[in-house]
Amino acid sequence: MELRILDTTLRDGEQTPGVSLTVEQKLMIAQALDSLGVDIIEAGTAIASEGEFRAVKEIANSGLNAEICSFARIKKVDIDAVADADADSVFMVAPSSDIHIQSKFPNKSGQDVIDMSVEAIEYAKERGLIVEFGAEDASRADINFVKELFRNAVDAGADRLTFADTVGVLTPERSERIMKELSSEFRVPIAIHCHDDFGLATANTIFAVKGGAREIHVTINGLGERAGNASLEEVVLALEVLYGVKTRINKKKIYDTSKLVEKLTRIVIPPNKPIVGENAFTHESGIHTSAILRDSSTYEPISPEMIGRRRTIVLGKHAGKASVQAIMKELGYSASEEQMKEILMRIKEMGDKGKRITDADVRTIIETVLQIKKERKVKLKGLNVVCGKDITPTASIILEINGREIVSADVGLGPVDAAINAIKKAVSEYADIELVSYHVDAITGGTDALVDVIVQLRRGDKIVTARGARTDIIMASVEAFIEGLNMLV
Ligand code: MN
Repeated sequence: MELRILDTTLRDGEQTPGVSLTVEQKLMIAQALDSLGVDIIEAGTAIASEGEFRAVKEIANSGLNAEICSFARIKKVDIDAVADADADSVFMVAPSSDIHIQSKFPNKSGQDVIDMSVEAIEYAKERGLIVEFGAEDASRADINFVKELFRNAVDAGADRLTFADTVGVLTPERSERIMKELSSEFRVPIAIHCHDDFGLATANTIFAVKGGAREIHVTINGLGERAGNASLEEVVLALEVLYGVKTRINKKKIYDTSKLVEKLTRIVIPPNKPIVGENAFTHESGIHTSAILRDSSTYEPISPEMIGRRRTIVLGKHAGKASVQAIMKELGYSASEEQMKEILMRIKEMGDKGKRITDADVRTIIETVLQIKKERKVKLKGLNVVCGKDITPTASIILEINGREIVSADVGLGPVDAAINAIKKAVSEYADIELVSYHVDAITGGTDALVDVIVQLRRGDKIVTARGARTDIIMASVEAFIEGLNMLV
């Protein structure tokens, strides 16, 4: 039996506090989800606003392979909006716990909710929609009432049923048991919708599948109300790698999709988040690193390439000989036993001060200890940036590259962007350099703070990190970029 995946990043995920997407952004995410291979895209709540309606309609008419679904309450106006937006299906939700029934329909009984649901489902079928009918807050409801509601829903024409753990109180054991009960009683597919209030969303979703759920609701990066929903990347990888359950997800696209959602929603992925977090495939400790360099499976459950990303090795106070030697080899240096001890000591010293150590820092330490005076290939000779009200930030720059002076200028969204664009333009004939990430920290408070900029640059297969620390954010950024360039050219 094939497992269906409904992604609700664009509906429940957008209900994440602080997230609001434009029609264009929603369309971009929908396209990414479609090529990721999700079966159903819940695109939004068509009745919610003019923009939401337009977003659902544009997504529905953009020729995607996935089934396009929109959320509705058991109300005709909601269903009309879904149908008018050309969605394929409706995710229609009725309250099922006493607390939800009382707060949504203060003067109505459980029987009233059943009657309204039946009427709404029949209407949605008349309007040509596939109906996925969900019991909201089902995990806190009387299971006999949920079943009664579902029986009537199926009789009225519901195509699928969803058990919603709206406030995240399900446990894995209960999830499995309930799904067993429901899937043995109902012929239509049962879906599970989990929230992560106790950090159990992934486990509850997986146990639901073990119990017989044939569809799961997930979001990219686990976005969603409060603590979020079950995350697509965790659930899919755990199902496939640990439980041997296949999905249609194109796993190589997981990381790029996650980064796109991070960028557009501006909800930053915690570094320690499974699968997609910055640190998920980053190694620091010396012992781990030397083993990883020999055989990556020593300290990695899956290879980063499986989800379309790469392994990074960072140096810190746990740095060992192996990782330093790897960098030395790349730079073409060799050190005596004595020098190696000194290099390691200096790196650990820096790490002990709580600093993140970049590749450029390591290079400087190595060159200092080996007393190698290396001429930097790229030098900054001059920089001028103009910005303010009603003008486009513009930067002009003079670089010396391999002894040749190059003048270039460019504009940007801000002064830093303009300066970096100007540098990129200047070096473009020497190398194709991509700025992978840009991170800025104010080390002290106040407007005179020292800012610490760390950049990650890529040229082909090689990625390096470099830092610039100044009170001037533009100079710190430029310095970091040029340090990185010197590692790459
Ligand atoms: Mn939800």
